[in-house]
Amino acid sequence: MFIEKFKVDSPNVRYVEEAIEAVYHYETTELVHENREGDYHWVVKPKTVRYDFKTDTRVPKLGVMLVGWGGNNGSTLTAGVIANKEGISWATKDKVQQANYFGSLTQASTIRVGSFNGEEIYAPFKSLLPMVDPDNIVFGGWDISDMNLADAMARAKVLDLDLQKQLRPYMESMVPLPGIFDPDFVAANQGARANNVIIGTKKEQVQQIIKDIREFKEKTKVDKVVVLWTANTERYSNVVAGLNDTVENLMTSLEKNDAEISPSTLYGIACVLENVPYINGSPQNTFVPGLIDLAIQRNSLIGGDDFKSGQTKMKSVLVDFLVGAGIKPTSIVSYNHLGNNDGLNLSAPQTFRSKEISKSNVVDDMVSSNGILYEIGEHPDHVIVIKYVPYVGDSKRAMDEYTSEIFMGGRSTIVLHNTCEDSLLAAPIILDLVLLAELSTRIQLKAEGQDKFHSLHPVSAILSYLTKAPLVPPGTPVVNALSKQRAMLENILRACIGLAPENNMNLEYK
Ligand code: NAD
Repeated sequence: MFIEKFKVDSPNVRYVEEAIEAVYHYETTELVHENREGDYHWVVKPKTVRYDFKTDTRVPKLGVMLVGWGGNNGSTLTAGVIANKEGISWATKDKVQQANYFGSLTQASTIRVGSFNGEEIYAPFKSLLPMVDPDNIVFGGWDISDMNLADAMARAKVLDLDLQKQLRPYMESMVPLPGIFDPDFVAANQGARANNVIIGTKKEQVQQIIKDIREFKEKTKVDKVVVLWTANTERYSNVVAGLNDTVENLMTSLEKNDAEISPSTLYGIACVLENVPYINGSPQNTFVPGLIDLAIQRNSLIGGDDFKSGQTKMKSVLVDFLVGAGIKPTSIVSYNHLGNNDGLNLSAPQTFRSKEISKSNVVDDMVSSNGILYEIGEHPDHVIVIKYVPYVGDSKRAMDEYTSEIFMGGRSTIVLHNTCEDSLLAAPIILDLVLLAELSTRIQLKAEGQDKFHSLHPVSAILSYLTKAPLVPPGTPVVNALSKQRAMLENILRACIGLAPENNMNLEYK
């Protein structure tokens, strides 16, 4: 059964004006390594820590500024949100299609709230805590191409023509601001697109981005802005001592106009200085150590890297299932071909390498979780291939072969073939990232013994479900398994309203 919304009635939860306050008992374990008479023992000690959560329930008017607004993802997301807001339907060759948010965790998935008369009761994910309604988002952003969003949508060739015709009047007047362009960081084939660029030194470029954010805020009268990079994949920047390894060195390199600071890092510096959340949807190492430290110093949210949309999402489910079932994946080979501008840019070795890295590490946590199947340091062979094939456009093909060792030396090979419009997968993920990033800036917590509330760590690990190579605070574990990532996010939001984590025990029926 499905319910639209619910309220929690508990002595641990208070709905006060402008906030929800919850006391939450976190059940965890402490591990101790003991040496008893020369014999080492691991001892697990369950412990309960009291946390207080306070969530600001004032939902702001939100501005979302996309870097690469006129790209396939940017134009598809903008179009999709307008179509939903305006209740647009359109004729396809099959039927009359209504706008929807399928593929969005916040807008189209549910959570279990309990059972009633023997029936499971589900509510929308977005009913957990007050979140921004996508209808009320104001979009803006930058692009190195000056094409308006209506023409950009046509260039992307993603949405049905009848829908494009209806959306055109809403999108013609949307024109991206000039972007920071540096041909050294993207494939040479992208130069032809760059007719809308910010000139000047790197420091001046950062200042221009700050000015753009302020002007956008003022013009649109939004309360808060989130910036998200959905521009081209860049090559990795070199991380070098003295260049970008500390805040001071990064800022000095900025003053010196050092060539090795990438455009995505420059937008990042601007956002952190402006205290605006900044999310990286591409694979490159935008968040060099100096920028991560700057974000921590200024308590400004950063999140990334690389949207987890298709092949990798499947991988983080399938390998989790195999390893969790005691089956040993020994070879994973992933081929992609695609024909959109992203594919064209990825056809250069340096940008492909960024994607290869972010796609490669995704099974690490699952492999290292099972010391029965894998020796220390042992890994499955894992190969990623991406080819540009113009004819298929945005409709990416992903072909995967998983070979595993099973019982008594047997072999099991699973082959997957997925055909799907890439931007229709990424757009709802972008929406989730900005909505959840905004929500997480309204959550405060304090653990037992702490006297002051603090915000969640600025390196936003709770966005991990949505990213291929989750950025986490230094020294904390990276979790790639999709079900664990979803559970982390859902359970933290449940804690904010004093609900226990979903444990699937169903003891009432045992
Ligand atoms: P796209 O090439 O259609 O769009 C990128 C846009 O960014 C272009 O309009 C380009 O002109 C603009 N741009 C490039 N450099 C810029 C800069 N420095 N400043 C401002 N604008 C700039 O690509 P897309 O298909 O929309 O994908 C965008 C990014 O998302 C890519 O890096 C891609 O790898 C990443 N991504 C996409 C998916 C997916 O499923 N679609 C999944 C994971 C990651």
